Amino acid sequence: MSENETSAIEQVIILGTGPAGLSAGLYAARADLQPLIFTGTQIGGQAALTDRIENYPGFPEGVGGSELADLMVKNAERFGARLEYDTATEVDLSDRPFTVKTYSKEYKTKTLIITTGASPNKLNVPGEEEFLGKGVSYCATCDGWFFKGKDVVVVGGGDSALEEGIFLTRYANSVKIIHRRDELRAGAILQKRAFANPKIEFIWDTVVKEVRGSEGVASVLTENVKTGEQNEIDAEGFFVFIGHTPNTDLFKGQLDFDGKGYIDVNMHMETNVKGVYAAGEVGDPRYRQVVTSAGMGAAAAIEVTRLLESEEE
Ligand code: NAP
Repeated sequence: MSENETSAIEQVIILGTGPAGLSAGLYAARADLQPLIFTGTQIGGQAALTDRIENYPGFPEGVGGSELADLMVKNAERFGARLEYDTATEVDLSDRPFTVKTYSKEYKTKTLIITTGASPNKLNVPGEEEFLGKGVSYCATCDGWFFKGKDVVVVGGGDSALEEGIFLTRYANSVKIIHRRDELRAGAILQKRAFANPKIEFIWDTVVKEVRGSEGVASVLTENVKTGEQNEIDAEGFFVFIGHTPNTDLFKGQLDFDGKGYIDVNMHMETNVKGVYAAGEVGDPRYRQVVTSAGMGAAAAIEVTRLLESEEE
């Protein structure tokens, strides 16, 4: 088949391979829909970048993020899900069957499940962009090793900041967690662990004004929001965990969104376009857990199955 040629009409295409996409793939495969799943750039999504997941039921000792992703892929493939190592670059939802263009081909599909997840937010301070990959990172599991014996700074006060900060203490000499308030958003268990960790120090009521360095990050300029006092903290690593923005660019102007930029889905994972569903963090500003994303993916695939069955009758 030549490039960009359209193949036969798919029953369901799934965009993304986080817990939502792989769970949707498993359910759609078991309904004999032979789902076609585009992996995107990160198989397993954000969960695969997590060192250890301790709150996904069935793993009392916890499970590695990438290990869980591998298991989910195997589980979906066992029943006939087809993973394509490709990324959707354009979708046309104006007519059914819908059109999905990827880097290599164009596809038609009767239904679409969007599980494109979310990407980490940036602080947008001077030096952050300049030193990306040279000390600035959004993933401790990916980059922590590079900071063996070094001092690092973490920004944020949610579960991610604490979890990743604790992870970084395996390698780093010290981890300073800078939070803009004097109260954490993170859950109690992570707070307890972080407070008990001798390598972690919290810097409260403080924001980062600039990341400084030459070849790589060397220091971070901070400001206390209550006193206005500025400080320069020596650090070779700068990790930012201040929430996420849903990956929705492909669907702007075609689907309805909520006030925060997430795809508007009802409790059946339906979007405002019949045949298009969204699951996981791209449509979930509230829970954003591996287990809830997997549940949403399963629900979306069940709804797809019901829709296609009703249209065959
Ligand atoms: P989050 O809960 O939204 O927390 C973001 C943190 O960053 C907040 O503390 C926020 O401060 C701070 N922040 C936001 N914008 C900022 C800015 N411009 N400058 C400085 N600080 C800023 O995000 P998350 O920690 O990534 O967690 C996302 C979701 O995943 C949550 O639902 C979380 O429970 C879940 N999660 C769960 C686990 C787990 O269960 N083990 C692990 C990771 C993530 P404020 O507090 O002042 O708003």
